[in-house]
Amino acid sequence: MARYVTHLESAIDGTHLDHNTLQTLHAGRPLWVKYDLDAIKTRVSRDAFATREDSMFRFREMLPVGDEIEPVSLGEGNSPVLHCPRLGEKFGLSNLFVKDESQLPTGSFKSRGLSMAITMARHFGVRNVAIPTAGNAGGATAAYAARAGMNAYVLMPTDTPIVNMMECVWAGAHVYLVDGLINDCGALVKQGKETVGWFDLSTLKEPYRIEGKKTMGLEIALQFAWKLPDVILYPTGGGTGLIGMWKAFNEVREMGWLDSDTMPRMVSVQSDGCCPIARAFDAGERFAEPFENAATSASGLRVPVAVGDFMILDAVRESNGLALAAAESRLIEWQCQATEAEGISICPETAACIG
Ligand SMILES: *Cc1c(COP(=O)(O)O)cnc(C)c1O
Repeated sequence: MARYVTHLESAIDGTHLDHNTLQTLHAGRPLWVKYDLDAIKTRVSRDAFATREDSMFRFREMLPVGDEIEPVSLGEGNSPVLHCPRLGEKFGLSNLFVKDESQLPTGSFKSRGLSMAITMARHFGVRNVAIPTAGNAGGATAAYAARAGMNAYVLMPTDTPIVNMMECVWAGAHVYLVDGLINDCGALVKQGKETVGWFDLSTLKEPYRIEGKKTMGLEIALQFAWKLPDVILYPTGGGTGLIGMWKAFNEVREMGWLDSDTMPRMVSVQSDGCCPIARAFDAGERFAEPFENAATSASGLRVPVAVGDFMILDAVRESNGLALAAAESRLIEWQCQATEAEGISICPETAACIG
């Protein structure tokens, strides 16, 4: 029985923290989970992953659980990569693929991060978890908290789609509607943490959601036979997925598992209704200014302040990528275009990537 985590490391100043206690932020900024990659390599070969169960926990040695901690799982992971030749043709791309994360439990990739975060929270004895959400993270929190036998407190803006509210209620979560944006919900979660001891599952405010999202990158490596795609477009809100995939690619490269050394260019995509990361990228900044009057129908992208802004921008720049803002006014048109061309049902967030 083993766990391959060596320590947690502050992303802002490199300080090491103990991984055997529950950690959150350091100096107000996120933590990286660090592993003994050599030990993982002697324990498991890259080819072993292909023969395991269809969940993201097939990569358990590369996750905080190792083979020691019991996951809180609903079978998340292993989403298909769909070749989209007709959609690609419109842009002169013969090898356009969409990784269809809508097929995951609770209908989005939020399940990956929250499965991992709630697994670790339960391991450390947490009973009450709270999350500010624009929609999908609430549904995933409610479902995984139910699965773990925990209490979930979900705070969402009043204009969150009703289906997102109801899925939380049905899974037994305590739902609060907040007259404001996700950062206003976040401020209330912080109060609940200080006054009644909620554990804050906000994006990047605990170290393990990234590790769940990292499995998208590990799956991509597996699905593309250890030769990574040239470019990856990611609809960016808090940025966990982009940061997590970039971490995955670096870990598998360091382990010598890649058959080609070409790393993907990571492209962060936002809507011009809320594009703090694209704006900071254009200005050559490492930190993003809060985006005033954020308004986009892509609720997953309506994140005016990201605590991991520098981690997103570092990944984009290290990978020789880009941070772009697509036209808010055309999201619906692009959504229809993708569905018409390929039969895939995409959300407004992903539609921004088509723009
Ligand atoms: C949460 C969410 C995003 C943004 O993901 P981050 O990792 O927070 O940047 C994009 N699209 C959808 C559908 C989401 O639910």
